This record gives sequence, C-alpha cells and structure tokens, in this order.
Amino acid sequence: MRARRRRKPASYGFGFLDENAKKELRRALLKAVAIPGHQVPYASREMPIARGFGTGGLQVTLALLGDDDTVKVIDQGSDVSVNAANLRKFFALVCPGVRETTRTADATVIQTRHRIPEQRLRDDQILVFQVPYPDALVVVEPSAAKRREMHGAANYARLWTKLYEDMVAFDEITISHRYPTRIAGHYVIDPSPIPRWDVPKLNMADCLYLFGAGREKRIYAVPPHTPAEPLSFSDVPFRVEDFTDEHGHRRACARCRATDTFLDELPGADGVKTYQCSDIDHCTETAKAEPCERSSKSAA
Ligand SMILES: [Zn+2]
Repeated sequence: MRARRRRKPASYGFGFLDENAKKELRRALLKAVAIPGHQVPYASREMPIARGFGTGGLQVTLALLGDDDTVKVIDQGSDVSVNAANLRKFFALVCPGVRETTRTADATVIQTRHRIPEQRLRDDQILVFQVPYPDALVVVEPSAAKRREMHGAANYARLWTKLYEDMVAFDEITISHRYPTRIAGHYVIDPSPIPRWDVPKLNMADCLYLFGAGREKRIYAVPPHTPAEPLSFSDVPFRVEDFTDEHGHRRACARCRATDTFLDELPGADGVKTYQCSDIDHCTETAKAEPCERSSKSAA
C-alpha cells in the first residue's frame, strides 16, 4: 500500500496540463488582466474531477504554479474540507517541488471556493477563485450573445432594475452571495459566491484576483489597485453581513474571540447556536496571539 501511495510524480508532466493548454490559459489570463472584469473565453480541459468541483480554478492554478511556489487551498475558509484537501494533494502530486501550506501568509498562490481570506493579501500573492457562474447578467438575460453586447456597451440597466425591484419588495438589496460588482468603472462581474463581507476586499487590493469558470469556459480578473464597486443606490448603501446579537452586541468567535471576522453559525446539540470564524487559518493565528494583542485587534 505504501509503495502505491508514493507514486512517482513523473508519471504526469509538471502541472498535469500539456504545454499547449498551459500556454493558452496563460494568454487568456494576460488578456483578462489587461481588460479588468472582461470574461475571456478559453478551451476548458477535461480534468480528473467533475465539472462543478472547481475545474476552472484548478486549471488557472495549474497554469500559474512553478516549482518555487507555495500553494494553499480553501473551501468556505477551511483548509481541511474534502474538496480543499484533495485539490492540495493533487497539486503536490502533479507539481513536484511546489510546497503545500495552510497558512495564508506563507502562500504565493491560494485557490478558493466561496471566501477571500480575512488577512489582507500582499502584492506577491495571487487568489484564484472557483467560479460556478461567471456572468452577472445571466439573471436578467438568457442569450449569451446579447449579454456580450450589453457588457461591451456597459449597459447594466436591467441589472439596476432587478436591484430596484428587490428593494421595493424587501426594503433592501437581498443578494447574499455573487453580489454584482463593477470593475474599473466598466464591466460588472459575478465575484463568485463569496459573501458580501468579502466584496470590499476586491477594491484597490494589493494582490491579483483571478476567476476561473471551468464549465462555462471563462476567465476574468481583478488586477491589483483596481477599483471594484458593488452596485448600489446612493440612498441605499451597500452593506456587509451584520453579526449583531439581539442585545446589539457584535458576536464574537467562540474559538478566538475575534469580533472583526466573518462568522459561521454552528447549531449546537442543545439547540443553542455558536459562532466561529469561517477563515480557519486566521482564527488559529488570532487564538495563538497574545491576549493584549488580540483585544486591541478586535477593537480596531
Ligand atoms: Zn475565530
């Protein structure tokens, strides 16, 4: 069994994809960076996982990794979920020399599903999103050809109408995930199913954000220091999730006591809900920090 687990990585070419596939992906990535928010088509390859399990993100990451990289994979903020752990193992298998990590600070490339790490990413880091639906206009226009025209003309009138209808019906914009976000004043993107909490992190970031949709065969990017603005009305500002309890206090993480992070709600056996940071690495680092440092950080 042992011999089988230690299968030689040389049975694959570095990065699993053939060189032509990587070349095409890198060209698409460069174009995506050059036109922030524009969806660039590419020939999405068959991967050894099913579509819908992150094949788009996987291909982008494989095209980026070199043997001096350190890779981290998160799924809803967790490094240990089955999907994240298996993708990380796959990178180790097909990219000899690439180091694996669960620490955000140590990673050069982070592949993610549904979250942006709490810690601000640096300019030497790249965040790769797994994207199920790349086009923010798909909720208002079924024809892909028409959507392309609308994007080209930055014609988002129907999206604005949809947001307005939401507001009339519910007094606020009810979109919780995939919040339409305008990049560099032109293209509106679907930022993948991240919570609203993460949307402001796209704005004027130091790192590069890349989005890969495998099933829909599209790649797009938010380059560093690019304005990213969630669509909202001047009299109804964009709001992130509210973690205030019934007494008006901000809920704290049950593990690290932080009050400045995105929290997951966990149902307890006795029916009492507890709250814990969704970003496990950030939670672990905060829990390890000195108590005085922790309280000043939470107060900030
Ligand atoms: Zn925590």
